[in-house]
Amino acid sequence: MPTLSIIVPMYNEEEALDGFFKRVQRVLQTVTPSYEIICVNDGSRDLTLARLRQAAERDDRIKVVNLSRNFGKEIALSAGLDHATGDAVIPIDADLQDPPEVIPLMVAKWRAGAKLVLAKRRDRSSDGWLKRITANGAYWLFSKLTHPRIPQNVGDFRLMDRDVVNAIKRLPERSRFMKGLFAWIGYEAETVEYDREARFAGETKWNYWKLWNFALDGITSFSSLPLRVWSYLGFGVSLFAMAYLGFTIVKTMIFGLDVPGYASLMSVILFFNGVLLVGIGVIGEYLARIFTEVKARPLYIVSETIGVETDASASASPELHRRDAI
Ligand code: UDP
Ligand code: MG
Repeated sequence: MPTLSIIVPMYNEEEALDGFFKRVQRVLQTVTPSYEIICVNDGSRDLTLARLRQAAERDDRIKVVNLSRNFGKEIALSAGLDHATGDAVIPIDADLQDPPEVIPLMVAKWRAGAKLVLAKRRDRSSDGWLKRITANGAYWLFSKLTHPRIPQNVGDFRLMDRDVVNAIKRLPERSRFMKGLFAWIGYEAETVEYDREARFAGETKWNYWKLWNFALDGITSFSSLPLRVWSYLGFGVSLFAMAYLGFTIVKTMIFGLDVPGYASLMSVILFFNGVLLVGIGVIGEYLARIFTEVKARPLYIVSETIGVETDASASASPELHRRDAI
């Protein structure tokens, strides 16, 4: 059984792949001879899978889990966690934005007894200003809305002890906002700091629409506040309406009836129709996610594995296993 499992989600990473293995393995050699690199091919449309086959043939510590289509990074990561056998697991990006040189530092803390070691970005200077502002805004919102505190500037790059991995595997939800799930399971965390580098080859798979939906996933998975706020809003508006009604009655009794008011009536109607639609939209966001949960489809479909001896029967949760084994 390997000591260390490295998990790499890969989507169209043919250019980054060889450089990645070279640099990661150079570092891993200094840490332990017993490691595995689990590459989850997330339905790449380029030569990633072919390159992975070659790499796995060269070196049996490189293992491949090939998903049947693109499921997204979060799910690819879950697939990797399910197939990892190591005593400690480190997810890392294929584009070398998470510098592998941090791995020995994390492993040192793990050997000293830490169950969870987070790699924290020292700054975000390698990002553009818009990305930086939106990321800060998202972190701020999460800290206000969600109960488990999501540590700032910490991505998926981290070291997890086997206990932590097993805890993660017991969370069966389909909308997998990994940052939130990682925070939810708790555990005392140690941190090491690093500088995030620019992408080394290929290009980012994120755009702002995806990031927005990612943020929505994060909020709806961990907070019901957006759902509950409407009753308070409605209550407040009703109170105001009652007071206004009283005022109007008294005013009419004293000053008589006064018909004009088309503009104000129009604005009130339009405004509150807008508010109502937003409220329905919020319910829709939750409903859609409840819908995907109740369908209880497997998280991902594996079409092929290379070098992976365990199936998902190593999964901590038998229930999860049954769903994933389809
Ligand atoms: N990735 C994936 N599936 C996707 C999108 C991305 O497995 O649908 C992988 C990608 O190959 C990379 C990692 O997730 O290893 C991070 O992606 P990217 O570098 O595009 O994100 P960024 O660093 O810009 O946040
Ligand atoms: Mg990247």
